[in-house]
Amino acid sequence: MPELPEVETMVRGLRPALEGMLIRDIQVLDPFLLEGCTTADIERQGRGAKVARVDRRGKWVVIHLDRGRGLIVIQPRMTGGFWLVTPERQDHVRLTFLIDGPRDTIWFCDTRRLGKIAWYPDEKAASVAFGKSHGPDALEITQEDLFARLSKTTRAIKPTLMDQKVLAGIGNIYADEVLFRSRIHPTRPATTITAEEVARLHAAIGSILREAILAEGSSFDAGYRTVLGLEGGFLATNAMYGRGGQPCPECGKAVEKTRIAGLVGRPTHFCANCQPLTPPKPSRKKSQKA
Ligand SMILES: [Zn+2]
Repeated sequence: MPELPEVETMVRGLRPALEGMLIRDIQVLDPFLLEGCTTADIERQGRGAKVARVDRRGKWVVIHLDRGRGLIVIQPRMTGGFWLVTPERQDHVRLTFLIDGPRDTIWFCDTRRLGKIAWYPDEKAASVAFGKSHGPDALEITQEDLFARLSKTTRAIKPTLMDQKVLAGIGNIYADEVLFRSRIHPTRPATTITAEEVARLHAAIGSILREAILAEGSSFDAGYRTVLGLEGGFLATNAMYGRGGQPCPECGKAVEKTRIAGLVGRPTHFCANCQPLTPPKPSRKKSQKA
């Protein structure tokens, strides 16, 4: 947390407040979050720059400055978030943008200080840095590429989907939802997922993430909020995450809440009936005989 839909929601919230606006000043309040750059780099490049655009890459928020001023990249990681309204906790503010625009201040807050703030001189440098630790964005990966990447590992499918080097953007909540929608058991070895199942999985990744973006993400504790301090609505209507013991929306059997290897401290929710560990064999032969 936040995962792709939460970061996309942050980006969509930031765009009207930042794009095309002049940054009057930028203040790094907690240099602990800086990665590969100094407070002076960020403040010098940001001060007086115009924001060309704001976009997302995996779980990164990318702020493109105009006229060769480079890119400021902010990774909210576990507890980071942007505020267009005065943040609840001033002591958690790590970076402040002072803007010539309808909103004169934008705050980046991070409770546990696990987020990262970086600066790159150009798009290419940012792409290289991203590529070192990330696979393709979960909304951009092709079905063929997903199949090829899954066929390379015998790890369970759920932690594989959450591995940012395989594809970028999916975490614990959306992995549970995607696997339920594609009817795949979370501990199936990734190499055993058939081409037909990858087709379902690929479609489910796109549809679940888009639905979650429309709902402005998932809030379940004091963590993620939109830039206006509101909760995301996805967990009001989702199928699996946080619903252990409740009836499966497909078959009515109780949703299981369990822990699986490779995911320390994070629960897994699934329906043992809809997502059997040994899926039924395709019935092609039978129907050919009939
Ligand atoms: Zn079910």
